Amino acid sequence: MASINKLAINQITNDPVKSDKLVEIYKEEGVPLITPWRNKLEEDGITAKAFRKMVDDAGIEINGFCLCGFFAEKGVSGRQEQIDYNKRTIDFALELGAPSIVTVAGGLLPDNKDLDYSRKFNMDALAEVLAYARDKGMRLGLEPLHPMYTADWSVVVNIKDANDWCDQLGDGIGIIVDTYHVWWDPRLQDEIKRAGDRNRIIAAHVSDWLLPTRDLLLDRGVMGDGVIDIPRIRKWLEDEGYKGNYEVEIFSEENWKKDQAVYIEHIKQRFEEFV
Ligand code: ZN
Repeated sequence: MASINKLAINQITNDPVKSDKLVEIYKEEGVPLITPWRNKLEEDGITAKAFRKMVDDAGIEINGFCLCGFFAEKGVSGRQEQIDYNKRTIDFALELGAPSIVTVAGGLLPDNKDLDYSRKFNMDALAEVLAYARDKGMRLGLEPLHPMYTADWSVVVNIKDANDWCDQLGDGIGIIVDTYHVWWDPRLQDEIKRAGDRNRIIAAHVSDWLLPTRDLLLDRGVMGDGVIDIPRIRKWLEDEGYKGNYEVEIFSEENWKKDQAVYIEHIKQRFEEFV
């Protein structure tokens, strides 16, 4: 049973709510930590500085920040543009006072089926962005995603890949363990141990895998609604010395239709029971 003071909620979980209203609801509901998205804050016309004041006034802490990555998205010719966008994201996170940034590797280059080339392309671009983050003292958290996102989100699809990338990339980058993406992996415990030995577990995300899953992106379940043994993974993390928070990150069209304050109550109950 996880204690509510370890509860972080990722902003995407309550996607329909405007950023300023969300901080109000989290304050009312006693949610202690939030992970905002740069594009959401920008959409809502809120600067990093203004959001920081908002959460400070509400007594809420920043757990992380979304999102670095997507290096291949605009093709070879768009490489520099993506790198520059990532650097601005790092600046934004610094102003916000976020401890780290969720980082995805990026998928396949457009119109290109050479997966090895896309892996190399993404890693090289990430190395450049990491050098910038390192200079600024911002930590990146590489999050391996489920293999079904290889083409569009991430060529890093399990914790072994993420550990291998971190070994190559060096200091300043760690790993985010998201139960939704890694629960199926027979090497999970061993690779969590490997990450723990190198002191690189930065954050943990939780949600559940629904059976059946009806949408590749927008059908994640609330903890307890699916098949993932979250406490077991949590134990493996804590056996490796992880003392951080657990961030609820649920992309879900179904749950976005609900009254979000009521939904957050439900998440809190499930957090205590199933994390
Ligand atoms: Zn995640």
